[in-house]
Amino acid sequence: YLNLGLILVLNIVLLFGVWLVFRNVKKEIQLAENKSVFVSNVSHEIRTPLSLISMFAETLEMGRVQTKEKQQEYYEIISKEAQRLTAIVNRILNFSQVEANKSSYTLEPLDLGGAVDEVLKTYTYHLESKGFDYSFTKEDNLIIEADKEALQEVIINVLDNAIKYSNKTRNINIQIANLGNMAYLSIQDHGIGISARDQKNIFDKFYRVSTGDLAKGQGTGLGLSLVKHIISRHNGKIKVKSELGRGTTFTIYLPLKQ
Ligand code: ADP
Repeated sequence: YLNLGLILVLNIVLLFGVWLVFRNVKKEIQLAENKSVFVSNVSHEIRTPLSLISMFAETLEMGRVQTKEKQQEYYEIISKEAQRLTAIVNRILNFSQVEANKSSYTLEPLDLGGAVDEVLKTYTYHLESKGFDYSFTKEDNLIIEADKEALQEVIINVLDNAIKYSNKTRNINIQIANLGNMAYLSIQDHGIGISARDQKNIFDKFYRVSTGDLAKGQGTGLGLSLVKHIISRHNGKIKVKSELGRGTTFTIYLPLKQ
């Protein structure tokens, strides 16, 4: 009996080991696949603004643009595309710092509402020009310990996604509140939503949901993994709630300064 029992236990251990190895290999394959998609996405993301910049700059250079208004319009396109390029490069640099464990954050007392306000101020034009409405419901004096730049990077990433993966209802609701010893920041959109299956993976590096044309060539799959990293370095948590076709809410919990 003892032998039989032992053999059974050994078999179970062996099977468990095989399962673990199998699972890891599967994960690695998935990661490699995501990575190669990432390289092609990033190349596309960089090539598009670059070719727009050189096309419009050349047209201006050759003196082919007659009116002042048209010239102004072309300069604006060039500057907007250059900003886009900078944002992509920054995101990749930030991410590689995280990967190399070189990211450092200086946590200082920060007024959460003020930090959100600042981001929204620079976003108002962007949101309005795309036909978005937004609301910001806030409680005052929510003081957390945070690295302001990193936290704003988090807000920008989530907001950018809310805009990028939007639907017909262009409405975003932002809320901050006090949960006792935690502050809560939620960003809700009414966009395309994320299936339950994908919700499990969106925080993985390089992961992107294949949503057909809508999101093609518009992302790197790094945003949310960076967001998750930053939040965890702030001793916080991020949760997603979403329904396909109805919209998504990201909720971030951060400890309040004692
Ligand atoms: P990306 O650069 O592709 O936007 P992210 O890491 O920011 O990378 O997001 C990962 C994936 O999660 C996206 O490709 C998208 O499919 C999905 N996603 C993120 N935010 C939203 C949202 N607000 N609504 C719908 N899908 C989203």
